[in-house]
Amino acid sequence: MGVPLLDLKAQHATIRADVMAAISEVVESQQFILGPQVNQLEEAVAAYSNSRHAVGVSSGTDALLISLMAEEIGRGDEVITSPYSFFATAGCVSRVGARPVFVDIDPASFNLEPSGIEAAVTPRTKAIIPVHLYGQSADMDPIMEIAEKRNLVVIEDGAQAIGAEYKGRRAGSMGHYGCFSFFPSKNLGGAGDGGMVTTNDDERAEKLRVLRGHGAQPKYYHGVVGGNFRLDTIQAAVLLAKLKHLDEWTAGRQNNADIYRRLFGEAGVVVELGEMKGRRGLVLPRELPARRHIYNQFVVRLDGRDDLRAELREKKIGHEVYYPVPLHMQECYAGLGYGEGHFPASERAARESLALPIYPELTVEMIAEVVDAVTGFAREKRQGRGPR
Ligand SMILES: *Cc1c(COP(=O)(O)O)cnc(C)c1O
Repeated sequence: MGVPLLDLKAQHATIRADVMAAISEVVESQQFILGPQVNQLEEAVAAYSNSRHAVGVSSGTDALLISLMAEEIGRGDEVITSPYSFFATAGCVSRVGARPVFVDIDPASFNLEPSGIEAAVTPRTKAIIPVHLYGQSADMDPIMEIAEKRNLVVIEDGAQAIGAEYKGRRAGSMGHYGCFSFFPSKNLGGAGDGGMVTTNDDERAEKLRVLRGHGAQPKYYHGVVGGNFRLDTIQAAVLLAKLKHLDEWTAGRQNNADIYRRLFGEAGVVVELGEMKGRRGLVLPRELPARRHIYNQFVVRLDGRDDLRAELREKKIGHEVYYPVPLHMQECYAGLGYGEGHFPASERAARESLALPIYPELTVEMIAEVVDAVTGFAREKRQGRGPR
């Protein structure tokens, strides 16, 4: 039969009337730029993320960019972040003229390993960008502790993690800034690009609003250089219609993760990270204590991942590698002076990780089909190679 990695049409079918009415309302109003829905969405996302303020922006990438701009981070500055993320996380640092400084990940969570941060701090360090990868929060307490001690700004890259929690606190509410993306494949996805920055700081919120409109305040008077980082009213209207369903969709993703755990467990192919080599089993995503994992992605690890990919392609089982090349090994970052072996946990994750379909509309039968395809491969591999 085949199972897609993501099926946005299945979700749209359940909310079509609401979404179309929301779009139509904006079109009829002709208030395409900063119409009332933008403010409504900002208030709703601020509340959802337990933050005082939320500022709608043009994308998750621009959310990161505008946060760095608001802190006046630029040439000569360094920003510590994870080498195992979507490119935007580090790309924004470079775009403001600063230098990304990478710290390796904790292999259990794929997120920044806080114990490595201290050694990477220099007098030029201005900020830390922890990423809540796949929908699970980074270990924020020690990160905030280092930031406080060294007077650094923390910008949470929560693009994959709206509604994720760490010790009861929501993603976006723990650092000085929280950055969200409404790219269609995120848990709350728009009808195009969109993003949001959350903050608990009144002054920072004001600065973000000014920067979003070319730094103008009042109109046509530019105290600072900003950009056009506005969120379209149509996007805000669509997102407002979808936000009502976010918790139910997240519950669907969590339930699917449980089904995967049960079925892979029954198939007897699950191994722990430490016993993976040579066993040819499957390492399942780990939920760390005191987290609410929202499963933007369900990422397994396995030795021989690329061979499995070929098989899944044949069986039309959707899958993806997030991400095949760690950021320190990207061609455009050759000049940073990093190389293979610098961040072994990230490099290993890039070789072993594989995202399987987790979207809320999956049926149990579809999940079983994915599990069958993967376990068939894992078993075959184990018999073929035997224990080493
Ligand atoms: C999606 C994503 C971004 C960028 O968001 P866009 O809305 O696509 O610009 C940034 N960081 C991470 C971790 C992401 O997953």
